Amino acid sequence: YPPERIRNFSIIAHVDHGKSTLADRLLELTGTIKRGHGQPQYLDKLQVERERGITVKAQTATMFHRHTVGGTNSSDKQDSPSFLLNLIDTPGHVDFSYEVSRSLAACQGALLVVDAAQGVQAQTVANFHLAFESNLTIIPVINKIDQPTADPERVKSQLKSLFDLDPEDALLTSAKTGKGLDQVLPAVIERIPSPDGKRDSPLRMLLLDSYYDEYKGVICHVAVVDGALRKGDKIGSAATSQTYEVLDVGIMHPELTSTGVLFTGQVGYVVSGMRSTKEARVGDTLYHAKFTVDPLPGFKPAKHMVFSGLYPADGSDFDALNHAIERLTCNDASVSVMKETSTALGMGFRCGFLGLLHMDVFHQRLEQEYGARVISTIPTVPYIFEYADGSKIQVQNPAALASNPGKRVAACWEPSVIATIIIPSEYVGPIITLCSERRGEQLEYSFIDSQRALMKYRLPLREIIVDFYNELKSITSGYATFDYEDSEYQKSDLVKLDVLLNGQPVDAMATIVHSLKAQRVGRELVDKLKKLIDRQMFDITIQAAIGSKVVARETLSAMRKNVLAKCYGGDVTRKKKLLEKQKEGKKRMKRIGSVDIPQEAFHELFKIS
Ligand code: GDP
Ligand code: MG
Repeated sequence: YPPERIRNFSIIAHVDHGKSTLADRLLELTGTIKRGHGQPQYLDKLQVERERGITVKAQTATMFHRHTVGGTNSSDKQDSPSFLLNLIDTPGHVDFSYEVSRSLAACQGALLVVDAAQGVQAQTVANFHLAFESNLTIIPVINKIDQPTADPERVKSQLKSLFDLDPEDALLTSAKTGKGLDQVLPAVIERIPSPDGKRDSPLRMLLLDSYYDEYKGVICHVAVVDGALRKGDKIGSAATSQTYEVLDVGIMHPELTSTGVLFTGQVGYVVSGMRSTKEARVGDTLYHAKFTVDPLPGFKPAKHMVFSGLYPADGSDFDALNHAIERLTCNDASVSVMKETSTALGMGFRCGFLGLLHMDVFHQRLEQEYGARVISTIPTVPYIFEYADGSKIQVQNPAALASNPGKRVAACWEPSVIATIIIPSEYVGPIITLCSERRGEQLEYSFIDSQRALMKYRLPLREIIVDFYNELKSITSGYATFDYEDSEYQKSDLVKLDVLLNGQPVDAMATIVHSLKAQRVGRELVDKLKKLIDRQMFDITIQAAIGSKVVARETLSAMRKNVLAKCYGGDVTRKKKLLEKQKEGKKRMKRIGSVDIPQEAFHELFKIS
């Protein structure tokens, strides 16, 4: 396939607008997967993705489609030239916008899918801008036109006013009924430019992604920008200067299909005897080892926005957890991992994530795919503290601040984000209230049509990772949509809030909060802990303190908890069930000092802002 007959495109959309369904339909239409293959959403391969209905890792699939440019009747379809189309699926959630921009780097165009009833939403705006900045040709697709509340005309006018897209260019589809789908691939072929690499130049290819396969080892997804790659070639990495022999090369059709060669403009996979995905740096340029080439522009590295400690639920399981984390990070290089030790929880890890959902997904995969049982500590964002002597540290673990007791803090900074919120106009008031409670600063307030407002706020990252999204949804009856991008660090007035049980500080429960909120957060932490911890054989004092100043205090009086007291009547099976449930609950207890703490306590505490 010469570059003129290759198209690389991606589908971008707000979550639930039908991106994965459309991708599946296109794969079916081209015979790449069988119709009704029984596994909904082919590209969402991970169990967590299926369960949560989100895409976490971008996947690629190659399909073939016959088409005559300029349009003719369908009878000469057999004689039409065949095109090679690479579809690169992108994750929909804001945590993974890093993955989105990475997938877009290999594309020349994108289908911008918008739900005909919901209209443009916050992620549509964010994804449009990512695609626009990458100079992609954008094809608007108004999907779900089968819905009774579909209003494609309104969506067209939003596309025009927000993105200056010509309403004439919009395709109308239903990925459910199949209506309009036959227009999609012709539009891809006719409107999206072919990749413009140089066929006769030395090989340059962009490393898009990598993962570890038990049988084949490290598999790299690559986009060949210039030249061609063949099995047996010797390739080098611009990032590490290591060289490798190409053992296998091919396309994802949609399973790995060996072709022995990849030409200019193609997207495919390479197996080259790399031992660990750590050698496969995403954004790296690979080239023929006998030439020297200028590296391609790489991607922005992943930024870790949320940190949390991960500890084995059972202290002796450290090696098992270590092993599980090592294997999982082989397939998710966007997590950073460092060993750490907590007085309360023993040996564990400090992990950095792209966002809260990313963190949850990582936990879920550790437990589901690797059978690890973990306790995670209160997540934190990376703060910067400057001491009076001028030294600065990035604080990824609130407990780390204690190691400098003699040093006076001179200034601190916290990361902020620019949030885009789209809402029906009647909800503007509640949004303003919510954002000002969360220390937000309004940057923009405008209308995208007669009924919908777009608001932009600068908010401290800390304030949006704490239950912001749920609250936003609940005060707007689910109508608000939200997306954000990183912004700079802002000076702030932060203090470390300690939790003490029977006078002993629990390092794994320390948090950093804004000084104006410290009193209230301290109160809520103490109240919450009092509810979460079961009464034990002795009194427990629970305190929240800033330095030596106690801001809240409660006592949990001694009493043996009798689960059976709740049972009325003498139903034996019910009693048994309760006792079993209590036993089950005990497994996830952590003993700190002499106090047993249920594992949810660590996570629950973070929900307090
Ligand atoms: P994604 O989050 O953008 O990948 O969205 P999905 O493809 O997972 O689709 C979200 C939901 O919308 C699923 O329940 C789909 O079955 C449904 N859906 C997708 N396309 C259509 C459509 O054209 N019409 C209708 N009525 N539902 C659709
Ligand atoms: Mg999806």
